[in-house]
Amino acid sequence: MKITDIEVVIVRQDNVKMIGDGSQDTAVVLVHTDEGITGIGEVDSSPEVVKAIVEAPASHDQCRGLKEILIGEDPTNIEYLWYKMYYYSYYYTRRSVGIHAMSGIDIALWDITGKKYGLPVSKLLGGNFRTKIPAYCSVLMPGTKEEIDELVAHHRADCNYHGYKFGWGALGESEEKDVKLVEYCREAVGDSRLMIDIGMRWTDYKYALRVSREYEKQKIYWLEEPFAPDRTEDFGRLADNIEISLASGEEFGTMYEFRDMLDNGKVDIVQPDMSRCGGITMAKKIADMAQLRGKKLIPHAFKTGILMGATLQLIAAIPNADMLEYCAQETVLSKNLVRHHFRLDKDGNVTIPDIPGIGVELNEEILERYRRK
Ligand code: MG
Repeated sequence: MKITDIEVVIVRQDNVKMIGDGSQDTAVVLVHTDEGITGIGEVDSSPEVVKAIVEAPASHDQCRGLKEILIGEDPTNIEYLWYKMYYYSYYYTRRSVGIHAMSGIDIALWDITGKKYGLPVSKLLGGNFRTKIPAYCSVLMPGTKEEIDELVAHHRADCNYHGYKFGWGALGESEEKDVKLVEYCREAVGDSRLMIDIGMRWTDYKYALRVSREYEKQKIYWLEEPFAPDRTEDFGRLADNIEISLASGEEFGTMYEFRDMLDNGKVDIVQPDMSRCGGITMAKKIADMAQLRGKKLIPHAFKTGILMGATLQLIAAIPNADMLEYCAQETVLSKNLVRHHFRLDKDGNVTIPDIPGIGVELNEEILERYRRK
């Protein structure tokens, strides 16, 4: 089997708001082969930049476009192709958006290989630890107690989530408000697991320490991204001084960045996003690195059903995942870009598909309706 073409299809809802919601648009990656199998992936990044990286003509030996590197290759040689992309685009893809673009292609290569051999990706990764996973509800932080109560009541009405994560939104405006909002969240969710995602908005270490100590009283299950991802030293000293588990990693690419955050940032939970970290290939290595250190991997996934499909396959096949981030934003793409969108069962679990590849089928009508030329 050979790769014949790679398409990046940009889809975007009609009105994109400037809020921390990556499910408003996406870059769908389609890898085509001479056997008629098409692999599906997606990238959570700047879609137009991703498209340019995939389609760029070769400049010189270390600056080649990803599509040009892969045409004619056997798509089932996934890890070889990961390193081939990395090497021949080395001047511009060692981190960030180059790795994001590689991630979407990598997911599609796993999808092709699963479809070719009739196996779900979890089996290609070594087999299943689990066939379903408890989901937690991931939402943006509202600004008032009434809005928090309303949001929790709304999501509780149709799903029995295993926990709630409130992130970004109204957090980070003031010390008093950060404390108060989380008190309201605890009141609203009762005994459920409560996670707080600061969205990198704290800049002062002492501020972070004071607010975190207030959060300890609310029994926060984890505190996510109190600081910007490059502030590894501040993560490390906060980890030394509070009881709450720290979580981070959704902006990181490659195992090298995760090694630094695990060893120097001392986080307890790493959160690679499979559409940014280097794909399923890299996420599996990161899971192993976390396992070696006795840490958990709970992937970041705030996009469409494509990323959720890839995420579920990884979660199935690693020992150290115990929850799924369930993007509860109700955008047209998060709910409808794939057919048979993943739903929670009555116990708040999502079943991991036992069908070839990453287990998703594109909704072509939605793809065409929201496609941007
Ligand atoms: Mg986050």
